[in-house]
Amino acid sequence: MLPAPFEYHAPKTVDEALELLDQLGDEGKVLAGGQSLIPLLKLRFASPGHLVDINKIKDLDYLEERDGALRIGPLFRHKSAERSSLLASRYHVMADAAPQIADPIIRNRGTIVGSVAHADPSGDWGAVLLALDADLVLRSSSGSRTVKARDFFNGPFSTALEPNEMLSEIRIPASRSQTGGAYLKLERKVGDFATVAVAVHLQMADGQVGSAGIGLTAVGPQNLKAERAEAALKGRVLDDAAIKEAAGLAAEAAEPKADHRGSVEYKRNVVRVFTERGLRRAYERARGGG
Ligand SMILES: Cc1cc2nc3c(=O)[nH]c(=O)nc-3n(C[C@H](O)[C@H](O)[C@H](O)COP(=O)(O)OP(=O)(O)OC[C@H]3O[C@@H](n4cnc5c(N)ncnc54)[C@H](O)[C@@H]3O)c2cc1C
Repeated sequence: MLPAPFEYHAPKTVDEALELLDQLGDEGKVLAGGQSLIPLLKLRFASPGHLVDINKIKDLDYLEERDGALRIGPLFRHKSAERSSLLASRYHVMADAAPQIADPIIRNRGTIVGSVAHADPSGDWGAVLLALDADLVLRSSSGSRTVKARDFFNGPFSTALEPNEMLSEIRIPASRSQTGGAYLKLERKVGDFATVAVAVHLQMADGQVGSAGIGLTAVGPQNLKAERAEAALKGRVLDDAAIKEAAGLAAEAAEPKADHRGSVEYKRNVVRVFTERGLRRAYERARGGG
């Protein structure tokens, strides 16, 4: 099918883009990598009157550590995350997730920010950002506000973004020593969306868990943060008992639906097993192991 007709805009600055979004209201949609939006247009699941393509705006494709945060710009693509030595060495959960997103063609164009704005409950980056306790900067022509990742997702394909706002930056607390992470994803075949996936991030301190982040993919109406599991780990030595307790709590936090990919019990059990494995892998990495 062909998309319904739309007006195409290619602003050269963020201010121009925000001005346009302000004028267009519900009729305007940001176009980043187009890997989710274009299929939706072609299937006519969405028919916005106007597309605001941000690809002509300079300096939006960045990943940098500055002022205590890892900052991700709106045009930073999945493939750049996959190739980043910074992520490989210090942000393991992101480095693990990047090569598991879709296929190389989609990774060439698709962006992390676009993925998060799209808010597919089966999308991988949302769970990663929940585990990392990220902040999202939402900008409109009248200013900007910062929303925690846990307050950003409202349900399937629904977020805190207003129609006149752009997700202008993702900020992740800068990695310190003794941090480790892991992303484990079960997919039916390479390039598929997750049946279940689990993101884990650990900050160790003096042999105990300083803080833990656990995000879940494809087991609820949105990416979920397993907050009780995280709280149960804080201040604990990461022994078998602590790992098993947290994995059980993460499985309880999951709200899976039965479908052709598996039953509720099966998916919940994958969350439990992946949380356990993820915590062990993250712990190894926090201690300097691979
Ligand atoms: C076959 C296939 C397999 C896939 N597999 C996976 C997978 O395994 N895991 C996974 O996580 N994803 C997967 N995806 C989705 C892919 O990762 C997309 O790249 C991503 O979801 C959207 O990023 P994008 O830059 O292409 O955004 P676009 O398609 O350009 O935009 C998506 C939505 O976000 C909005 N948007 C984009 N940028 C902004 C912004 N800065 N501010 C406000 N709104 C914005 C757009 O208006 C639109 O509503 C798959 C897609 C396909 C087609």
